[in-house]
Amino acid sequence: MVSRRAFGAGALALTVASGAAASGRPPGVVEPGLWVKGAGGGARTVAVTLDACPGWFDPRIADVLVEKRIPATIFITAVWMRWNPKGLAYFLARPDIFTLENHGALHLPPVLGDARVYGLAPAGTVEAIRAEVLDGAAAVEKVTGRRPRWYRGAAGLYSPAAIPVIEALGFKVAGYSLNADAGASLPPAMVARRLEAAKDGDVTEGHINQPRRASGAGIAAGLVALQAAGVRFVGLDEAMAG
Ligand SMILES: [Zn+2]
Repeated sequence: MVSRRAFGAGALALTVASGAAASGRPPGVVEPGLWVKGAGGGARTVAVTLDACPGWFDPRIADVLVEKRIPATIFITAVWMRWNPKGLAYFLARPDIFTLENHGALHLPPVLGDARVYGLAPAGTVEAIRAEVLDGAAAVEKVTGRRPRWYRGAAGLYSPAAIPVIEALGFKVAGYSLNADAGASLPPAMVARRLEAAKDGDVTEGHINQPRRASGAGIAAGLVALQAAGVRFVGLDEAMAG
């Protein structure tokens, strides 16, 4: 969980994860929050982000984004790109919809030490965190021709000491404010409800790599509902521009 503090456009709120004792989350890690500038006046502006962790391409979500012309930032791993050339081609064919950013080379959480993070082996050392970030960025740049600006660590959790390491490499840490699907683990109706409840300025997070789980249908339905409710969708550049 993250707590919302005073923040402006694109502000990054670093909070110690309150669920430190929760299963799979090592103590002391942080889960950064991120928001975009809100519309105000009762309107809603929302930024959609989706993670392409190692896994597959989920056309239920991708097709809705294209059909409805909803821009989304895809945090993509180099592993996913190798496994899903057709899915990657789909993303690259619509740069007006999909912005590819860095979710790491091997999907190793940027966490120091050897405690597993939700079952994932952590990068473990500063050197390995640098390699995870830089190799992931190089993979994105190779296919897009554009250097990514954002990095989101696997599991969205970071050792506090990892944050300045990532920033020194020239990347902004991409937190979020609304976790829609809890690792693609939630039932679709619940995922849709969570998305539909997005507040003005939220950066939503979900998964586009689990087509075999029911959860993704909830992402698609929630996005359609948000658009029908008049939500304006923006990219993370909006957050950076302030
Ligand atoms: Zn991931």
